[in-house]
Amino acid sequence: MIKLYNTLSRKKEPLKTRSTKKISLFVCGPTVYDLSHLGHGRTYISFDAFVRFLKSQGYKVDYLQNITDIDDKIIQRAKETRVTAKTLARRFEKEYLKDMKALGILSVSKYARATDHIPEIIVQIEKLLKKGYAYELEGDGIYYDILKFKDYGKLSRRTSLQAEDAVSRIDESIKKQNKGDFALWKISKKGEPKWKSPWGWGRPGWHIEDTAITEKRFGSQYDLHGGARDLIFPHHEAEIAQMEAISGKNPMAKYWMHSGFLTVEGMKMSKSLGNFITIQDFLNQHSVRILRLLVLKAHYRSPIDYSDKLLKQTKRELERIDEFIERLKLCKGKTKTSFPIKKFRKDFISVLDDDFNTPKAIAVLFNVVVKGNTARTKEVLSEKNAKEILFFLKEIDSIFGFIFFGRPNILPPPNVILELAEKRENFRRRKDWQSADRMRKTLIDWGWEVDDTPKGPRLKKIS
Ligand code: AMP
Repeated sequence: MIKLYNTLSRKKEPLKTRSTKKISLFVCGPTVYDLSHLGHGRTYISFDAFVRFLKSQGYKVDYLQNITDIDDKIIQRAKETRVTAKTLARRFEKEYLKDMKALGILSVSKYARATDHIPEIIVQIEKLLKKGYAYELEGDGIYYDILKFKDYGKLSRRTSLQAEDAVSRIDESIKKQNKGDFALWKISKKGEPKWKSPWGWGRPGWHIEDTAITEKRFGSQYDLHGGARDLIFPHHEAEIAQMEAISGKNPMAKYWMHSGFLTVEGMKMSKSLGNFITIQDFLNQHSVRILRLLVLKAHYRSPIDYSDKLLKQTKRELERIDEFIERLKLCKGKTKTSFPIKKFRKDFISVLDDDFNTPKAIAVLFNVVVKGNTARTKEVLSEKNAKEILFFLKEIDSIFGFIFFGRPNILPPPNVILELAEKRENFRRRKDWQSADRMRKTLIDWGWEVDDTPKGPRLKKIS
């Protein structure tokens, strides 16, 4: 039974979906005004692995993500770069989708743009006005009156902003009835993008796009809502206030999952602090596999402090697994032994069942590497054992996306191969041709060919 920590109840709860083995999941998507950074990557890799895990357990997951393609930041950046807000948004939406593909994020069922949902947004605002949850400020817009919704604050357990909230988008207006009231519709200023509404030409507030998008696809209630923790307040609190006021049903989402930040020296990676690395810059230098391991070896709710040290350490860990796999592929042992693969598999699933504890799952993986290597050096690992382990590693790979298998050979040879090649080179230098030849044969047994070029020996994987 899968258990999840629910931000709404502050407890781990068994996952009981509204319909058996089907899950409706909404995760807040990006605001497309610039390139995405590793912080965004962290959040979306975590949810991608989580969805892959649910699918591996037989769930059908309808994973919906919004694209915020109209917002103050987009309008501002468009002005600065002298393009229309729409041109800018489409450009960075394309970059975002490209980045997600490069990160191996293929689990999202649908991306939905805010601006494709203007009629649904208007209907929701009309309902809020009719029910008395919203009020109009002439020439300014429509605001939500947070005092009218008695449950306001039930997710975050508060009603006012704190430092780490998504503060960039508080809707300032001196005429608001309460300080915390937020905009549902903003009357557009001259030159700003605008859509026709019963209250004048304008554009939607940030929170209403998500409830319009989720109601259209899931109805007024669904299973799971996710996002990074800075969105708990005011964004997710506002979503609840809107949807539950409109439908009169609660909860809007039964479970709320919030991921921790990717930080740099303890500070959230963000555009505004300038401490960011774009996903594209990272992938120009490193493999996506390293980022996925770096993200998933932390629990999704914990912060990850990004550093060169962490990057190097993760690289080494990945190499250890890669080497282990290479050795397993060549394992031809005949000895009949029992390697406890079933137990490892059971442990792996049971820690993921427990609030998707990926660090513990990766610890199981390393345990397999250690035990497997010990058995191999003692020559008690049979070919059959090796195949079973490889099969298990493939299963792990389908959830975590570390690409252990089936990738082109762009990685450097594992250390064990480099050491053998070095030994061969030393024999050659001493003109001990017989030993050098023996080493060449050993390398071939390991699946590597050595080519002596004018620039020195070059290793090539035998495919
Ligand atoms: P934004 O485009 O700023 O709306 O962010 C899109 C998503 O990425 C939201 O769920 C953010 O909370 C999340 N996010 C932004 N920065 C970070 C970070 N440093 N660590 C983790 N998640 C982040």
